[in-house]
Amino acid sequence: KFTLADRVSALTPSTTLAITAKAKEMKSQGIDVIGLGAGEPDFNTPEHIIKAAYESMTEGHTKYTPSGGMAKLKEAIIHKFETDQHLTYKPSELIVTSGAKHALYTLFQVLLNEGDEVIIPTPYWVSYPEQVKLAGGTPVIVEGKEENEYKITPQQLEESVTSKTKAVILNTPSNPTGMLYSREELGAIGEVCLEKGIMIVSDEIYEKLVYGGNTHTSIAELSKELKEQTIVINGVSKSHSMTGWRIGYAAGNESVIKAMTNLASHSTSNPTTTSQYGTVAAYMGDQMPVEEMREAFEERLNIVFDKLNRIPGFHCLKPQGAFYLFPNVSEAAKKTGYHTVDEFTKALLEEAKVAVIPGSGFGSENNIRLSYATSLDALEEAIGRMQKFVEDKS
Ligand code: PLP
Repeated sequence: KFTLADRVSALTPSTTLAITAKAKEMKSQGIDVIGLGAGEPDFNTPEHIIKAAYESMTEGHTKYTPSGGMAKLKEAIIHKFETDQHLTYKPSELIVTSGAKHALYTLFQVLLNEGDEVIIPTPYWVSYPEQVKLAGGTPVIVEGKEENEYKITPQQLEESVTSKTKAVILNTPSNPTGMLYSREELGAIGEVCLEKGIMIVSDEIYEKLVYGGNTHTSIAELSKELKEQTIVINGVSKSHSMTGWRIGYAAGNESVIKAMTNLASHSTSNPTTTSQYGTVAAYMGDQMPVEEMREAFEERLNIVFDKLNRIPGFHCLKPQGAFYLFPNVSEAAKKTGYHTVDEFTKALLEEAKVAVIPGSGFGSENNIRLSYATSLDALEEAIGRMQKFVEDKS
């Protein structure tokens, strides 16, 4: 009676959430665990956003909105695209969703037929392959090599395209590596996509978190042709520290957006009304809090990066964005007597009491992901514990 549908039988739970849950459980037993698994900023949402959301409720805006998002919010998102990317979208080319994750989910549902292929570069955000599979698609995994800063090359992309390829996912800045595709790299990848006629899904959720004087480029801003072939995914979770508000969006081809909006009308009805009002304030109000959070992340990154690299057997490329470090720790695992980085990660949690995410969940067996969306004190203590663990066991 309770046999589950085939479509969910192979669904794996998010590794990130599994480790975080185990760390929480250890904490509740009174064990002093430091969690570096967080995928969300450790700041509260800026005050003016909370105030705007509260006021919208007291003014009576507590009802359904159009499925694809309120006109006022679409205007705010259009303003954001014009300011940041000099891109002009029409309201009919935008859908507001319950987080960027839901924008991606809905997109694959309307885009993919059984067996359609989606190229997913490693290391990838954990939900991409699962979402593609849930829509009947086939993930085609292409390795972003460490020597190429964990990014794929245009040649690799070209070689992976088949007659069934529908789209490629680009995530810049990347979760988990923090790497950015430069304008030139995007141009070269874009050329392959135009030539082969494949769609680009450009996940830009970490756009506002870039460091070291780097700048974020959206592939959609490179040419009119690329804009037409790209669906941009973004949201306020990371930029405005609004993960719990669940607001994201997709921008691009009108017929794709229309299908997504129809699907949303039968699934979520609309993204939470109050959150939509908060997001209007996020985009139309003071942007200083966004910059202040970015500066705080950059300061932490600069302090902890060298310390992390000094751990024997750890080597890490310097991230240019997001809030993760993604060191290759295969040597450290070997030195300490573990066959796999997964086992090493488990021992770090159980013995060193530091929770990090094994790279296997991101398609990268040799790495671990550490989030620096936590206090400097906790970060320094965690790095000290990991260093001691590796030194004691070597
Ligand atoms: N895309 C990437 C690469 C992410 O890391 C995340 C969140 O962790 C999301 C999308 C989803 O963000 P949201 O909170 O808007 O659903």
